Amino acid sequence: RRAVVLFTSDLRVHDHPPLRAALEGAQEVVPLFVRDPAVDAAGFAAPNRRAFLADCLAALDAGLRERGGRLVLREGGTVAEVRAVARETEAADVHVAAGCSGFALRREERLRHALGEDGRTLHVHDAVVTAVPPGRITPQNSGHFAVFTPYFRRWRQEGLRDPLPAPRTVRVPEAVRSARIEPRSAVRGVSPDLAAGGEEEARRLLSAWLRRGVEAYDERHDDMPGDATSRLSPHLHFGTLSPVEAVRRALAKGGDGAEAFVRQVCWRDFNYQLLAVRPAVASADYRTRQDRWRTGAGAEADAEAWRQGRTGYPVVDAAMRQLRAEGWMHNRGRLLTASFLTKTLYVDWRVGARHFLDLLVDGDIANNQLNWQWVAGTGTDSRPNRVLNPLLQAKRYDPDGDYVRRWVPELAKVAGAAVHEPWKLPERERAACGDYPEPIVQLADGLARFRRARDLD
Ligand code: FAD
Repeated sequence: RRAVVLFTSDLRVHDHPPLRAALEGAQEVVPLFVRDPAVDAAGFAAPNRRAFLADCLAALDAGLRERGGRLVLREGGTVAEVRAVARETEAADVHVAAGCSGFALRREERLRHALGEDGRTLHVHDAVVTAVPPGRITPQNSGHFAVFTPYFRRWRQEGLRDPLPAPRTVRVPEAVRSARIEPRSAVRGVSPDLAAGGEEEARRLLSAWLRRGVEAYDERHDDMPGDATSRLSPHLHFGTLSPVEAVRRALAKGGDGAEAFVRQVCWRDFNYQLLAVRPAVASADYRTRQDRWRTGAGAEADAEAWRQGRTGYPVVDAAMRQLRAEGWMHNRGRLLTASFLTKTLYVDWRVGARHFLDLLVDGDIANNQLNWQWVAGTGTDSRPNRVLNPLLQAKRYDPDGDYVRRWVPELAKVAGAAVHEPWKLPERERAACGDYPEPIVQLADGLARFRRARDLD
């Protein structure tokens, strides 16, 4: 008996319920990944994520080979390829992790239908991509949670299953054809400092994080120059790390830091459960505020200055440049740059979300779009009109200016917190900052425009 395991956002051999179930029911399994042009066409295949994915697929192949198997890679429509592989290998069953996005849910439905026509069975496994499956916990009087804290309270009470060990052996039928795995070096336009992908790297990072890092997370997660967060987001995004395992191991470690970390991982589940029931929030407001976002040449010029890290507000520019250099940005940077675009510049959150998705290695629809909406005040936050002042944010989260100096070379010679306000520097020092721009907007003007637009006065 044979079975196919379709890998999607779960590129690992540890804690992998679909692989475990397939191995229990069949002598031979086909671990399959399909590179689907529909993913590219939908705009999800940005270079940074493709490069990281190349690492993940190579590592998955290596992990399977260590166990006597290998990864089978196909290119084409996922449904057609899975169907073809199942026919070629006469596999009776196909196992896959439950998807959360509209895209994944539609694919699952089409797959179920196509396999059913051939007399084969699709088995969908939950708690693979998320720790708690979307829809598992719901409030009494509505279909989903729209407020995080009550969701978290319930989520925290859920008993998570024990993580599964990696299988000892994986037998793959010999004759199955596989495409070549694209090496990371073949991908063009990748951020120069992009992190490495793959399961081994994910496990190394998690262990190191739990050994030292997580303990101080509670106090240090907003320390921008300290860079004291886990950096596990791309691994959770590609599933080289199981969220169940990450949460279970952090809780086993215990302490305030681990609790705070687990709470953040819960945000991920929260966003997924929301997207699963309201797929439209990928592009539509969760709660409309009747915004009349700026459009036209002025707005586009402002958005471009923001994208390029040339707004004249050093902490905003530093974060935007970190994004371009690493394909990743500190959470505090994401918050303040998103607030700057949507509130100070009053540009549509979708413009910013698109740019983030083009670069973020952890970029995904649930967490990117819903965090953007949260900041823009069109999402699930309870303070939709709060505006983050980039100067106050900078002084609080980068008090000595080290984060700015790291990412904005024009300002590298300005000492201390003065780096946050280059327009206040003595003339000679200001001149030494090269072509670092003057602020593109006065904060008071931005605030007044926002308050007018939202009828707050
Ligand atoms: P840690 O602080 O170590 O947190 C641990 C894990 O918890 C993260 O790896 C992540 O999986 C999860 N997490 C933490 N904060 C959040 C959050 N606010 N929402 C959802 N999950 C969270 N995260 C993404 O994974 N993908 C995105 O596309 C994304 N886009 C964002 C866009 C904006 C405008 C904002 C404000 C936040 C966005 N985030 C996104 C959330 C958060 O910024 C990142 O998850 C975090 O910075 C990743 O770094 P880390 O792994 O070191 O996080």
